[in-house]
Parts: sequence; C-alpha cells; structure tokens
Amino acid sequence: MSATSTCKHSHDTFIDNDDPTTLKRLSQHRIATEADIQSAVAAARKAGHEWKRYSLSARRRLLREIRLRLMDRLPEMVDTICRDTGKVQVEALMADIYPVFDLLSYYEKNLARFLSPVRRSRRWLPPQTGWVEYAPRGVVAVIAPWNYPFQLAMVPIITALAAGNTVILKPSEITPLVGERIEALFQDLSEVPNPLVQVIHGGGAVGEALIKNEPELVFFTGSVATGKKVMGTASASLIPVILELGGKDPFIVLEDAHVARAAAGAVYAAFANTGQLCISAERVYVHEAVAAPFLEYVKAEIQRIRVDTGRSGDIGPLTDPEQKRHVQRQIQEALDAGAEQLDTPPAVAAEEGGDPPNRLNPKVLTRVDHHMAIMKDETFGPVMPVMTFSHDEEAIEMANDSSFGLNASIWSRDLRRAQQMASELVVGSCSINDVIKNVGNPKLP
Ligand code: NAD
Repeated sequence: MSATSTCKHSHDTFIDNDDPTTLKRLSQHRIATEADIQSAVAAARKAGHEWKRYSLSARRRLLREIRLRLMDRLPEMVDTICRDTGKVQVEALMADIYPVFDLLSYYEKNLARFLSPVRRSRRWLPPQTGWVEYAPRGVVAVIAPWNYPFQLAMVPIITALAAGNTVILKPSEITPLVGERIEALFQDLSEVPNPLVQVIHGGGAVGEALIKNEPELVFFTGSVATGKKVMGTASASLIPVILELGGKDPFIVLEDAHVARAAAGAVYAAFANTGQLCISAERVYVHEAVAAPFLEYVKAEIQRIRVDTGRSGDIGPLTDPEQKRHVQRQIQEALDAGAEQLDTPPAVAAEEGGDPPNRLNPKVLTRVDHHMAIMKDETFGPVMPVMTFSHDEEAIEMANDSSFGLNASIWSRDLRRAQQMASELVVGSCSINDVIKNVGNPKLP
C-alpha cells in the first residue's frame, strides 16, 4: 500500500507514503494528534459561525473560485492522483476530477433554487403561513477512501460548503498526497472566512478521534466493516452519518442484448480503475443462450487492454499491495473450489514502463457459484466472475442474493423488459445498456 503498515500504530508520528508503481517512498505526512484534531475542530467551528451568515451568492462565488483554481492546477492534480494511486491519466482526469467540475457547475447553477427559504401556506382553519429555512449543520467530518481519492473527498466537501458548513477532511492513509493537494486548493481563499476546509492525516484511529470530537455530521465513504465502526462511534454522541459503502454489483445480460456491446460494457465495468471501484461489475450473469459468444467478445476486448501506468496504459497496477493479496486469495479459493479461469490472452503491456510490483492482469472466472467468496464478498480488483441463467426470474433471484445493494446494470434490446427487471432489483441505482456512468451525474441521488 502507499502508506506503510507502520502508520497503523498509534505511536507512529508519520505516514510513509509509497508510490504503488515502484513501492519507493513518495511522501511523508505527519499524523494528527488529539491536540491537532481539537484545534482543527475549534477553528472550523469559529470559521463556520461567520460562514453561515454569508449569502447564497457568496457561496456561489466560492464554488466558482474553486472551479477556476482547479482548472489552473489540472495537470498538477492529474499527476498527483496518478502518483498516489497508480491510476492511468485518463482515469484520473475523467473519473476522479471531471465529476467534480460537473458538480461545482451544477451547484453554482442550482444553489439558490435548492437553498432559498420556501413558503408553505395553509388555507384552512386557522390559515397560516410558514417558512422552511435550510440551516447549515456546522462542522462536517469527511472521511474518504483511496480508490477515487479526489472525487470522493471533493463531492462531500463541496456539498457541505455550498450548504454553509465548514469541513475537516481525513483522507485515506493510502493516498495522503491527494489530501494535501485538496487542502492547498482551499487555502487563502478570497472573501471568505478561513479555514473553510482543513485536512488531517492518519489512519482509522485518527478518523475515530475526529468523530469523538463531535462534528455535527459525518460523511463517510469506505468499506462496510469500517462503516459499522463509524456509525457506532458517531451514535455515542447522536451524530448523524452518511455512509457510502461497498458493492458487489450484478451485471445482467439478457438473451436479446446486443452481445458485443454488453461484453464491451462488462470489460469496462469489471476492469476500469483495475476493478477498484465500488460500482464495478463484480458478478456477471449471462443468459445461457448467449454465454458462449459473450465470452468470446470478452476475450477479444481483454486482449486490447494495455496494463501500464501513465499515459499509455488503460489500467494501472493495484494501489495497495494488501489489496492485491486479497484479490489473489479470492481467486485461488474459487479455483480450489472448482472455478475455471478463462484462457484470456495476456493483456497487452505497453513497451515502456516496466512491470510494476502491484500489477495484476484482468482475469475471467467461470464455473463459479454463490458459495464462493468471489461471488459473495467485495473483490475490488480486476476479476470478472461469470455465471449463466435460463430465465428472468432466475437472474433477479441471483442478483438479489447478496448483502450488498449499491448498483446494477441490465443489458437488453427490450427497454420495457429491462426497466421491469430493474424495479425488481434491490439496489440503489441501475443502469440499462450502460454502466458506471450514473455515478458522476449530480442530478441523480
Ligand atoms: P476503508 O473502510 O478501509 O477506509 C475508509 C476510510 O475510513 C479511510 O480514510 C480510513 O482511514 C478510515 N477509517 C478506518 N477505520 C476507521 C474508524 N474506525 N473510524 C473512522 N474512520 C476510519 O475503505 P477503503 O479501503 O479506503 O476504500 C475502499 C472501500 O470503499 C470499498 O469497500 C469500496 O467499495 C468503498 N467505496 C464506496 C463508495 C461509494 O460511494 N459507495 C465509493 C468508493 C469506495
């Protein structure tokens, strides 16, 4: 992982952050002490008392300033994200940064409509006029993961600021450099109280200590296991939490689908960001009538993927060595239990760039079943396990046979049939003949 395991011990004072492509030291970051956290919360509260009195136009101007600053620093930000995570440039730009521009523009345009007081009148006995006002909560703690370290920190930060709050971000200890750049983005802002956004570094202990310092809201993105701990800690002080957790998303291909398109979509959804994506295709269910051509198309698509870093690659290495071991364990366990690895020709590695230690080529597994961890637990790596089904009800049953329910995707030429199936899935959102892209759409929940 980029952060050495030493940072997990409370007596350590620094995060030693390594480059995932070389495992060489990239940066060091001081771990926040209890005193640091207390003073950050006090400063956020002080700035918040002023910030909440600023007009909606002032908040809109702040969003514009951040958008322009980000535009100015774009190459530096892409480079930092790539170095901290091992992502390829196109992934950093299109998936980690671009949605943030979209969100900033969206709130600049809609802030007044969302947050102006709303009049609510009642005509009958006794007539009344009431007003609903939207008040900021105060200090918002944002606790972020490492897989999209920019977007998943910036989206809750921007939303909190737009609503008149101040923010303390604790970035993942695996990607602290991105956290440092985010802090710089909000430093010395004109015409607003400072600091609106502060960053504190550290692992789980620092996240926990931040919550114990009683911010008014916690916005957490990460794993289910940590989400439970976060909710537990916050509940002691009745602090409301927003939890964005893991996924094991089903990808369903019906027999009337455009099979080549569905296969291309599945390869994109399973392997984008080297599978380190909460809404990647983690379970693929294909109708038995089209399974054979589907797998042929998948093989052909995989052959075109370049596993490398920087400009020339489509997917990079895994960000964290522990993550690679976790993925390899799941694969081995499935193979031991009877799964078969599809004979996919090795993905094309670009000539330059060598062979990063965290590299793991895309893999497709068949003959898997729901007893295997690869079909039950989050994999978060470049693996596509494929099962077949024979009718729609069976596909729905298989898709819903999971304790996760984040996202799904259905592929069919019959939109009505796909929509009906989507309503039957117990998931937060479902794409039809598309996948993943709903996540960057600020208009969707
Ligand atoms: P993680 O749960 O290990 O860590 C997330 C953050 O929580 C880190 O900053 C970590 O330091 C902090 N943390 C750890 N223990 C804590 C504690 N006890 N109290 C407070 N904070 C604590 O997750 P990760 O490995 O960084 O990220 C990958 C996970 O995030 C995957 O499960 C993925 O599916 C999920 N994820 C979800 C979404 C979404 O929007 N639903 C998006 C991206 C990632």
